[in-house]
Amino acid sequence: MRQRSGACRQRAGGAGGGAADDLVAMYQPHEKVYPRETDGRFQRLRRLAMFLLLGFYYLTPWIQWDGRQSILFDLPARKFYVFGLTFWPQDFFFLAMLLIMAGLSLFFFTALAGRLWCGYACPQTVWTDAFLMMERWAEGDRAKRMKLDAAPWTVDKLRRKAAKHTMWIVFALWTGFTFVGYFTPVRQLGAEVMDFSLGPWESFWLFFYSFATWGNAGFLREQVCIYMCPYARFQSAMFDRDTLIVSYDARRGDPRGARARSVDHAAAGLGDCIDCTLCVQVCPTGIDIRDGLQYECIACGACADVCDTVMDRMGYEHGLVRYATEHEMDGEPARVLRPRMIIYGTLLTGLFVAWMIGISNRTPLRVDLLHDRNVLYQQTDEGIENVYTMKLSNMREEPRRFDLTATGLDGLRITGVEGQVEVAAGSVVSIPMRLVAPETAVDGLRNDVIVRVCDSADASVCSDAEARFIGPDR
Ligand code: SF4
Ligand code: SF4
Repeated sequence: MRQRSGACRQRAGGAGGGAADDLVAMYQPHEKVYPRETDGRFQRLRRLAMFLLLGFYYLTPWIQWDGRQSILFDLPARKFYVFGLTFWPQDFFFLAMLLIMAGLSLFFFTALAGRLWCGYACPQTVWTDAFLMMERWAEGDRAKRMKLDAAPWTVDKLRRKAAKHTMWIVFALWTGFTFVGYFTPVRQLGAEVMDFSLGPWESFWLFFYSFATWGNAGFLREQVCIYMCPYARFQSAMFDRDTLIVSYDARRGDPRGARARSVDHAAAGLGDCIDCTLCVQVCPTGIDIRDGLQYECIACGACADVCDTVMDRMGYEHGLVRYATEHEMDGEPARVLRPRMIIYGTLLTGLFVAWMIGISNRTPLRVDLLHDRNVLYQQTDEGIENVYTMKLSNMREEPRRFDLTATGLDGLRITGVEGQVEVAAGSVVSIPMRLVAPETAVDGLRNDVIVRVCDSADASVCSDAEARFIGPDR
């Protein structure tokens, strides 16, 4: 994979001196990229992905699910609501599994189809495309934008720049608002915005995220992919010669050269590339795909689309620039099914199945029993008594009643809790509770007991809490 060149040249002169012009910048100056608009099947796919992903992001918080916001990360209550599923702190394991699956998917899809994520689904790409779209509405396509930037300030330039930044800022603020709406109920947040009563943290995150969107998608753009994104650096380690990448078919395209459509280029000793540089002009990262695979390439397919239009105009076959594997480019058969794909696919499927089974078999009830720290035990008329605090979590989104029983010692019984315990929907209650056992049943200092809690309306929902019952040391 080729690296970006010329980023940091050193002092060319020897020790002790050299001309002033030997001193060169250690950092490559940024040259603004003005991607030209293009159309084609990959760009239509990308636009579809953009509308679906942005639609999902902006609309989901407004959708109600089971009477609640469909996705809400309620940090103060330490509960995540995701389309009818509620994740409690003890479900962290499932979230960790989700993250592992996301990482593994990245390996799987990268090995299969290269930087599919970067070109079609990465938020940086999606928001940059949305911002570019607004930039084109306000300032026009590539040539007009270049001309406008080079021109002195005029009323028209001011008007166009103001229109662009107004759209960007409104869109960025809406993005920041939506982001906070995943953590604070979005309708309540909307009301707070309307009456200027946003809390300090909500205000901070709303403006911070808006600012980050405006900066990343409006100004940094491809620099995030080239200089900041770690994935760009290590993704080549996941590639092999059967990974789909955007490639220029040099065997077919070279030698390059301009020619009239009527010229028999084969007879003139020319390849199919007419050296129009359109593939460079449409590239959002400003590279030339004809220089070979480069880590800056986000696999957006814009160069493939525009080159196909050039091939159409010239009456040549499509695919001079195309998604292809290195094997395919060398005229060898491509292999989709290869060991790493089988390993990633099997792991991913196994984890997904385990996750689904785990989620569907979660007990919607959790019990914790904490022994009183001050008094180990008491001798009463009824026997030996231990005091506990029981924490009962009802993870269902409806109130439930629970029956309590204690086992582990003959004659062990619960006192201090009258009848069934009622717990409100999605709540945790702390109940002081006593266990009493006849003195004759208690065998020394340490006795293991179990308190079983069962849903009174659903006997299959039970949870056991193990505890230590302390008696006189004999
Ligand atoms: S768009 Fe196609 S024909 Fe034009 S320079 Fe690029 S590879 Fe060559
Ligand atoms: S080289 Fe082609 S596929 Fe890669 S980023 Fe540029 S336009 Fe997109």
